[in-house]
This record gives sequence, C-alpha cells and structure tokens, in this order.
Amino acid sequence: MIREPLRNGHHGRNRPAFLALAALLAILTAAPRLRADEPYARSRDYDLQHSKISLRFDLEQRKVLGEVTHSLSILRDGTAKIVFDSAGLTIQKVTVNKAAAKFETTAEKLIIPLAAEAKSGDKFDVTIRYEGKPTKGMYFILPDKDYPDRPSQIWTQGESEDTHYYLPTYDYPNDRLTTETILTVPASWLTVSNGKLISITDSGKGLKTWYWKESVPSSTYLITVIAGEFEEVKDAWHGIPVTYYAPKGRGDRLAINYGRTPAMMELFSKKFGVDYAWEKYAQTMVDDFVAGGMENSSATTNTSNSLVHPKLAPEYLTGEDDLISHELGHQWFGDLVTCKDWGDIWLNEGFATFLEAVWSEAHFGNDEADYERWNSTREWFESANLWNKPLVRHDFDDSSEFDGNAYGKGGWVLYMLRHQLGEDAFYRGIKHYLEVNRGKNVVTADLAKAIEEATHSNVDQFFSQWVYGAGAPKFDLGYTYDGEKHQVMLTVKQTQKIEGRVGLFRVPVDVEITTATGRKLYNVIVSKDKQTFSLPAESAPLMVLFDKGGQLLKSADFHKEKKEWLFQLKNAADVVDRADAAVALGKLKNDEEVVTALGDALRNDKAWGVRAIAADTLGKLTDAAASKLLLAALDSNDKPWVRSRVVTALGNVKDDPAVASKLNSVAKQDDSYRARAAALQALGHLKGPDVFATLTAAVAADSPDGFLRKAALRSLGSLGDDKAVPLLLQWSAAGKPIDSRTAAINGLGRLQKDNPDITKQIAAYLSEPHFPVRMAAIYALGTRGDATAIPALEALLKSDDLSIEMVPMIKGQIARLKKPASEKPATHPDAGNADEESAEGAGGEKSTTEQRLEKLERLLQEMNDRLKSMEKRLPPPKQ
Ligand SMILES: [Zn+2]
Repeated sequence: MIREPLRNGHHGRNRPAFLALAALLAILTAAPRLRADEPYARSRDYDLQHSKISLRFDLEQRKVLGEVTHSLSILRDGTAKIVFDSAGLTIQKVTVNKAAAKFETTAEKLIIPLAAEAKSGDKFDVTIRYEGKPTKGMYFILPDKDYPDRPSQIWTQGESEDTHYYLPTYDYPNDRLTTETILTVPASWLTVSNGKLISITDSGKGLKTWYWKESVPSSTYLITVIAGEFEEVKDAWHGIPVTYYAPKGRGDRLAINYGRTPAMMELFSKKFGVDYAWEKYAQTMVDDFVAGGMENSSATTNTSNSLVHPKLAPEYLTGEDDLISHELGHQWFGDLVTCKDWGDIWLNEGFATFLEAVWSEAHFGNDEADYERWNSTREWFESANLWNKPLVRHDFDDSSEFDGNAYGKGGWVLYMLRHQLGEDAFYRGIKHYLEVNRGKNVVTADLAKAIEEATHSNVDQFFSQWVYGAGAPKFDLGYTYDGEKHQVMLTVKQTQKIEGRVGLFRVPVDVEITTATGRKLYNVIVSKDKQTFSLPAESAPLMVLFDKGGQLLKSADFHKEKKEWLFQLKNAADVVDRADAAVALGKLKNDEEVVTALGDALRNDKAWGVRAIAADTLGKLTDAAASKLLLAALDSNDKPWVRSRVVTALGNVKDDPAVASKLNSVAKQDDSYRARAAALQALGHLKGPDVFATLTAAVAADSPDGFLRKAALRSLGSLGDDKAVPLLLQWSAAGKPIDSRTAAINGLGRLQKDNPDITKQIAAYLSEPHFPVRMAAIYALGTRGDATAIPALEALLKSDDLSIEMVPMIKGQIARLKKPASEKPATHPDAGNADEESAEGAGGEKSTTEQRLEKLERLLQEMNDRLKSMEKRLPPPKQ
C-alpha cells in the first residue's frame, strides 16, 4: 500500500514515511518485535469460491452485525472439518447446506466439524451469523463530543491479515473468490464495496440497503466495506464508471486531486496491453485511515489527507499522483495477479512503485522521473537495515515484509529490467505475465518465466543477484587518459562487502565519454571486484560518466577533479548526473568557482530538481556569496516546489540581517504558502529577535487548512522560548483541528523539558482515539527525555487497539527515554550528510543518532501533517 513522495519534495519519493520511521527506529533501537505475517502460503482444504456478505452496524456500540454465506469446494479427500479465520467475533449460528451445524472457536479460528468426511469436489454452503466490536480490520470514525460535526465513516483495511477481525473467512492471499456485499445503513449515507452497484433499496426505519456484486475473483484481503457520510464525483474511462468519494463537506477537493485517474487508466492499459479488468474504479478518501492507500479490488481506499485544499494543491507539482498511480497499478499487480505469499510481496509493491515512475515519465517528463529515482536511490542506501535482505524472503519474524526493499528496491529492479531488456521486450514480458497469470496467485519464478517465454531473454542471473540476492553494487571509480593510444583507462572496483546474500554484481553499464569533439556512449559489463576498461577517446575527456543517467541501483565514488564536476554540472544531459555533480561540488568548501557554478545551476538548470539540489547545497556552504545567490534566487524562482527549498536553505544562514529580513517578509507575504511555511520554520530555527511575535501572529492568522498555523506551532518548538507554552497548550487541546493539535504537541514536546505538568498533559493525549494525536504525543514524550512518561507509554503498549505504525514508535520512544545520557554516542565528524535537508542538518558536527532523530522527527511531522499521502505498511501486532 503506501508510497510516500514527501510533500516538501526533499526526500525520497518512493516510500511510506512510516517505513522510513520504522527503518530509523530499527537503527536506533533493537528491532521492534512484531508478530509476523505467515511467510509461506497455507496448504488448503477447500477453495472458497463465493461469499455473500450482509452487514448492519450498531453505531452506538461500534458493532458489526453480520451474516455471511461462503460457497466452497473441498480440495482434499477425507476433509472432516471446515476452518475459517475469525478473531474477536461472537459466532451466533452456523449452518452447513442450510442445516444447523456445530462449531467451536479459538482465539483465531472458527472450526466447523462436518457430519461426514468430505471428498475432493464436494460443495458446501456455510452460513455464519455473528457480531463483534472489531479492534482492527474495521474502523468506526464517528462524531464525538470534541468533534461533533465530523462526518461518520466506517471503513475496513484487510491487508495483510485483518479481514477476519470483522468477517469470518479464509484470510490468506492464496485463494480467490467473488463476492456480494449487502450493506444496510442510514438512508443518508453512501456505501462503497467491491464490484458493481446492483441496487439501493429502502429497508424502513430510516435505513437503506446497498447491494454490491463483484464478479471478478480476488483474495479476501482485498475485500472492502465503506459506509458513511460521503460526497461523490462521477467520472468514466471507456464506459467504466470511475468514482471519487470524499467525506461530506470536502467534495470540492476531489476533481483537483483525483481528476487524472482516467488518464492513468488509459496509460497503464496501453502499456500492459491488458485493459483495466474490473467493473468500476472507485477511490474513497476516509479520515484517520491507518494507511496511505489500499488497493482493494475495483475500490481503492486512500487517506483523506490526499484531499489537499484547492488553494494548496497547485503548489505541489505532482500532486497526489504517486499515491493514485500506485494504487491504480495494484489493480493489475496485486489484485488481478496476486502474490501467493507475503514472502513475494514485492510482486505487488515493487510493481506499484515502478508504475508511479511510469506515470511520472509519461505525464511530467523524464526529468521529474529521474529526479524521483535519484532520491529513491539515496533513500534506499540510507536505510542500512535493508542492505542484507533479499527481495524475496520468508524470514520476516521480527521485521515487516512491507519494507523499503519491497517498495523502493522492488521498483528499482523493474526499472533496471526495463532498461536492460528495452521498452518493447519488457512490456511484451509484462503482457504475457498478466495474461498467463490473470486471476491467479504467483511467485517470483512466474515473472521470470513469463519474461523469458515472451522475450527469449534469460533473466535468471538478473533475478539471482537483484531479487534472490541482497545489497547493490558500490563502486569506486577513477580513470587515466593515455594520449598516445587515445584511450581512457577506466578502473572500476566493487567495494561492497561480500557476505551473506551480498555478492559481486554482474551489470551492464553505460559509460559516456565527452571530449572536445563530442560524446560517445559505450556499454561495458562489470562483473569483477576490480576491472579496467580501455575505451577510445580522441583527446583528453572533458567528462566521463559511469552509468550515464543513473540506470542502476548503485552507489559510486568517482574520483574526479573539480573542473570535471563543474563541467558535468553544466553539461551532463541527465538530471541524475547533474545532481551528482552538485552534491560532489558541495563538499568543496570556500571555493568561489563552486559557489558561482551552483548559483548558475540554481538560476538556469532546466530541471527543477537540480535547481532545488543546488539550493540545498548552497545553503550548506555557509558562505556569504552563497546566501546572496540564494536571496537572489527568490526573485527568479516562482515555482513553490523550488521556492520553498530556497527558503529552507536560507534557514541555515545564521547572523545575516539580510537573510533574516527576507525570511520575515516571505513569512508574512508571498504568493506561495509553502514558501511562507518554510520561512516560518526557518525563522524558528535561526532564533532572531522578533521571531516570537512573527510566529504567534502566524498562529493567530487563518490560511487554507491552517497550513501556516501548523508551521508556526512547530516552529515555536524549535525557537525554544518557553513563553510559547500557553499558546501551544491551547492549540493542542481536544476540539482544535487534529493537524493543528499534532503540530502544537510537537512544539510543546520541545519546551520546558523539566516541567512534569507538560509531560503529564502530553501523556493524557495517549488515550485519545485519534491516531495522529496519539502518534504526535508518543513522539513528543520521547523528545522531552522525561522518564516519568515511561509507565504511560508502557501501558499504551498493552492496549489492544494500536494501529500498525504505533507499536514500533512506542517501543522506540521508550528506548529513547531509558537510554542514560552517558550512552549517547560521541559526535562523529563525518556524520554530515550531504542529503540532509533540514535546517538543523547544516553546519555543526552532529552525532549520527541526533541526525537520525531529526530525520525521524521530520518524517513524523510529514506523517502527521499528512502533507503527503502514504500507504501503510507494517503488519499489526497479532497476539
Ligand atoms: Zn502498495
């Protein structure tokens, strides 16, 4: 499910924020102990073919009242009982072929003994009447005393194995069935479920019954039930209904954020040669969603945070398209063709992530897609816990299979495969894979086989190193030029540590050599730990690019002289190579030529991503000339996605009155809300004289969705002036908008750290039902370092309604609070990270732990703000 192009465009764009959080926490603390999903597909006694699901709801009690009839066919002779997954549900009655049947239940199962042993092929209709108050799987978002006007919403989240918390069923992907979903709800509500809407009938007593029918089989984790106060916008693609739903009052946000859906359906159908297969496509945005998005068959559910305010939406170049294209891509890869077991989840998530890039290329152009890929590479390499794990693995006991490998690396692997096979052959293979496996469950070998059958290219070695092996190549590179032989001698070393599943890589690499007379492209095969390639060049090269355009998941340390980097920044054809040059040049401090070149890039590069990286880099040079260029850039860069980056970069420039004054004026007035928010944050960080007044004024003022208020509330935390405490307490209180509260709680966590009353107040928020408030409180308690919060966090850990992301977060913060000061790692001079975007990241020498915490906080901030959509992905604890 999630992917996360962060809204402020800085960090990797291909991974859920909470995955990054989990990755960071795994580094900071012992890996969180979660009960893993079943890694291997189950052996089956029966084939569940059709389920007729009728549900009513008791809103007062938050109860589901259900009756389901499962039609199934026995697969093994001698089957004596039928076992369904069922957790926390009260089973009232079971019939088998309409005759009352005995049954027993355990914590996780409903067991129905058969009157006599059944034979393979015997068919049964099993009807189960039940009720329950689901602790997961189904969620009731209803008005309460603090939020009396909030639209009522009931929604479900099945993946990975949570459907059986509201519906007794077979809860593993390796079975497929058709469904009827019959939902009886208040007459003013809408409902959404899988398949076609057949009818809406009056059921009396102010109720209506909605009847949905899905005739294309899919797995039970893809069943969806949504009911509530929604608004609907109708669209279509080649006669197939395409509908968007928003919680009541936000219908005007649907078209601007979701309107490109039919164009995506068209693109994907054409690329794959297999049309969108379902009877309709609905996307329903719900509040407090536990994921960013979920690809239920024909009916995706997304977080309502993807309903960006119409005044803010134009400030994001790619809008919500990463989320939308990701979930749409799953309708083929995940829903039509489904991984057989969780160990092969990359077949779902890798494709969905790759397809975000396919849409990006087609709609926004290669520069955008390249820049996103450049970010995803850096992000993957930063997540050290992914390194030694292969894409296909069945050993995810104490971690999640929905990790940055399944998403980021999975997407990369498909990207590389396309590059190596060529576009035509690749899609021929994909079409064949979809056609052969349509309506089936697959393992990775099915993909390799389909590609080989369709293209006659053997991809075994490719899969062996990239999918069944771990890691990626790390290169150390250098070259000399032999003027007599007219040859470039390119030396390539693979420096990754060869151990475990990480081996030497065998990869084709595009090498481009530019001389005074032009550019030439060579393809070499790298396969050894050290190799030298002799490549012709008429004269000494001006530029040598190894893996031109960044077609490989790799890291590279290319020893080049300054003048070569300068040439590359200006002249390389691809975003990735210019971005690499900007970063390399940023390591050369106090160099006028470097500052000038980065300034040129900031002003003139045709790709906004390179302009933004140039801004980041200039911000870290802490050089008077660099800040002048940044200031000047504000006059020429009007795109909010660049402008906000320039402002953030200025937040690194201390003690410069011109900078402080400019930040002040941007904070107060600018065409871009994002730039204004970045200025408010930068001011808090720089701690100038009038900042308190500027920030409190921003808290008092209105902006779309309180966008500037949120930035100011956080910034008051960075400012560190305890005068802000009453204001932050006021805005963190129940009844204020949820996202303003999370910003205020974040700020509060950083003030008066020795005041136990504040700790107590934040701890009180732990018991609120609102997921973002809880998350903000958990993190703020960790930030305070006040160990008196430990019991409250430990108590929270024991509650049974924790959502997926919460458990590792709580454990991480407890570990943070338990760590004595003496154990804090010493500062590490090399810890400076060129990619560090935050204002805090520049200048000083910081411990890696501190940097990680800062990054963690930033990710949490992004998550809480829901500035960018994400998909879920950590399995819930299952006890
Ligand atoms: Zn996904």
